[in-house]
Amino acid sequence: MHALPEELTLLRDLARGFANDVVRPLAPQIEREHRVPRELLAQMAEAGLTAVAVPTEYGGAGLGETGLCVVMEELTQACFASAVTFGAHASIGTMSVLVGGSPEQKQHWLPKMANGEVLGCYALSEANAGSDPAAMTTKAVRVDGGWRIDGEKVWITSGDMADLVTVFAVTDPSAGARGVTAFLVPKGTPGLSVGKREEKMGQRGSSTVVLAFDNCVVPDALRLGAVGEGFKIAMATLDRGRLALGANCLGCAKEAQRLSVDWAKTRVAFGKPIAEHQMIAAMLADSATDIYAMEAMVYRTASMCDAHVPYSRESAMTKLFCSEALDRVVDRAVQIHGGMGYSAEYKIEQLYRDARVTRIYEGTSEIQRLVIARDVLKKGL
Ligand SMILES: Cc1cc2nc3c(=O)[nH]c(=O)nc-3n(C[C@H](O)[C@H](O)[C@H](O)COP(=O)(O)OP(=O)(O)OC[C@H]3O[C@@H](n4cnc5c(N)ncnc54)[C@H](O)[C@@H]3O)c2cc1C
Repeated sequence: MHALPEELTLLRDLARGFANDVVRPLAPQIEREHRVPRELLAQMAEAGLTAVAVPTEYGGAGLGETGLCVVMEELTQACFASAVTFGAHASIGTMSVLVGGSPEQKQHWLPKMANGEVLGCYALSEANAGSDPAAMTTKAVRVDGGWRIDGEKVWITSGDMADLVTVFAVTDPSAGARGVTAFLVPKGTPGLSVGKREEKMGQRGSSTVVLAFDNCVVPDALRLGAVGEGFKIAMATLDRGRLALGANCLGCAKEAQRLSVDWAKTRVAFGKPIAEHQMIAAMLADSATDIYAMEAMVYRTASMCDAHVPYSRESAMTKLFCSEALDRVVDRAVQIHGGMGYSAEYKIEQLYRDARVTRIYEGTSEIQRLVIARDVLKKGL
């Protein structure tokens, strides 16, 4: 593990203790029942974890994106679904308010999001607008006293658990991405309803649902940012989300590697532990190298974010590299475990399934490459 400043070392120890003592024992039940209990989020909040990245002036711990990555890395090692549920709130749910909110909105919502009283989620994707969110059709029109939102968002992580939805809608159909505006929609607002829940390959405890907006009216005070600024807010939030997702990948990779090292030292074939067969040792070396690179990218990019220097390209690179490196690490982990890597009896099988979606959500690998290439072609190296 790389050296962290003292306050982040303390945070890591706190998050690690929480992950091992509270989350890890629950993980089998979460996988079996396909449900992260809301009480677990309350416990995370009580431990101070939901406050980590919220600035101190809004009731948070002010430990920035670096702090959030530290927590994500630790939680994911114990249970990917729990970490994703945490991230839907503490990363993209809360960060959209931090990135786009007015001083009044931040003052109102962020302390409640930091202490876990209000859980957030982020609703951008639609059935026909995933990689290309500017093609969204959910619309918001001005009405007396506010805005009426109509449309359907899909694949919304924790959409059924959230108290506050950050939703993006078209307010000017002729303006493309510049015609999108962001809104905050509190749970219980008439016209907001939760639809189908997805049955997924992995991360089964994390809920993924459809959110429908039907004649859903919110006051103008719940508009997030200026009219037409929604796409910018969506992308700036994703810069943070992709980075935190890199930390998820890092945590999952470490867990897979730890299990693989233990297995390789104890499983015997041809009269000696398989770790002593060079082809197995080479796999462990390649995964260790991938993990080192992931860690370097996550924490370097997090420090850029916290230093307020542009980091969109680096965030896309981190997400791309970490999700693809994780796939390599879990694939090797299955191979090292042989038949037992394919058995549901062992955690490796679940890690393999949990990992796969990281190359898809918060922008696919192909979209990250487009983002990176566009920036390289514009700005050079
Ligand atoms: C478990 C899960 C949780 C999610 N949580 C959220 C959430 O909380 N909030 C939210 O808003 N969304 C969420 N999403 C949605 C996610 O961000 C989208 O699934 C993702 O952006 C891809 O969109 P799509 O599924 O429509 O794929 P499509 O856009 O249909 O893409 C299909 C394929 O075409 C490729 N492709 C598309 N365009 C191009 C191009 N120009 N060049 C090359 N290849 C291209 C893609 O890379 C992909 O391989 C979640 C998704 C999943 C699976």
